[in-house]
Amino acid sequence: MNPITPEPPGHGLSTLCIHAGTHVDQATGGACSPIFTSTAYAFPNPANETIYPRHFNTPNQQVINRKLAALEKGEAALVFGSGMAAVSTLLLAHLNPGEHAIFQNDLYGGSMQLITRELQRLGIQVSWGANVDQFAAALRPETRLIYVESPSNPLLHCVDLAELAALGKRHGVMTVIDNTFATPINQNPIPLGIDAVLHSATKYLNGHSDVNAGVVVSSAEVVGRITASAVHFGGTLDAHACSQLERGLKTLALRVQRHNENAETLARFLAAHPAVSRVNYPGLPGHPDHAIAARQMRGYGGMLSFELRQPEQVDRLLSRLRIVMPALSLGGVESLICVPGRSTHRTMTPAERQRAGISDSLLRVSVGIEDATDLLGDFAEALAMESPSSATTTR
Ligand SMILES: *Cc1c(COP(=O)(O)O)cnc(C)c1O
Repeated sequence: MNPITPEPPGHGLSTLCIHAGTHVDQATGGACSPIFTSTAYAFPNPANETIYPRHFNTPNQQVINRKLAALEKGEAALVFGSGMAAVSTLLLAHLNPGEHAIFQNDLYGGSMQLITRELQRLGIQVSWGANVDQFAAALRPETRLIYVESPSNPLLHCVDLAELAALGKRHGVMTVIDNTFATPINQNPIPLGIDAVLHSATKYLNGHSDVNAGVVVSSAEVVGRITASAVHFGGTLDAHACSQLERGLKTLALRVQRHNENAETLARFLAAHPAVSRVNYPGLPGHPDHAIAARQMRGYGGMLSFELRQPEQVDRLLSRLRIVMPALSLGGVESLICVPGRSTHRTMTPAERQRAGISDSLLRVSVGIEDATDLLGDFAEALAMESPSSATTTR
């Protein structure tokens, strides 16, 4: 019923960001998809389709669905009102009481809480692991699903996605990745064999820290099953937010390229800085998962974390930064910094954090698309020592 730009298969990711899924306005030939605010659509209609926002099939929702399916190389996609709506609907559409799912140790805090506070309450059995060998060891006859993030938050661990996909296929277990940190520009898990890809579109996909949204991409069959549950759970995104997200997506490839460049430059700068004891960035050859990341990623992303040699310097650093803003969330054009132990991972006990490798002096940076020289200058000044003996060690 909706006029659709024929999706350009085989086109590059930048072209797909701009053109895939656009709703062509036949009346005016406008370059942008119009905003359709209706919640009531004529019925009966020739397609016998009940169009309604909570059925996830209004024109502006379909634009995002088609664009994300094209970018992630899936058959179909579904846009949600938040990343957590996408995560929870996918999991609840597939997992029944008594069934078992395996999750990566270091997931996004909200996903972790969904698993421990909601899924387990519903009688869903849960195991944890750090890599494909540990996931394999945790398999049971009733295992339905394995769920990972790669790169993960906040240590940027990477999981070998081709190996994970092969494990899932061997045992008839669905494999799912939250691809928020990588974005479809840096990593496409579906061609590697992963069954379903999730995004918090709040982050890089929208990219301007002003829309809360989520997406699932998978086969038409899996997206159909998720849609059937989503209609009941109701986590929709309205037309105006869809339109804003569509605009953000048009510059995704360009933004991510700059996020990648700035993060790599900052990672190298921090790694060489005397006040910094450790930098976690999958693009650095010293990162434990660099080889895995190099195999499956086209770029290493805009997220990094690092540790200060002196934990008591954390607050001084945060108060001295002028451009980089202390804030949660990530993936926007502006650079943000946070202390995971105090914020995103504060509900873990100190012992759990220590086991996970999240020290009190660990800082996470969402590297924005400002001029790299300004970002390096901001960190250089904020990290400059006060004692005369070390005054010469920066810049
Ligand atoms: C933010 C985030 C989510 C949750 O998304 P919301 O849009 O905040 O609901 C899920 N996974 C990752 C990796 C995230 O960064």
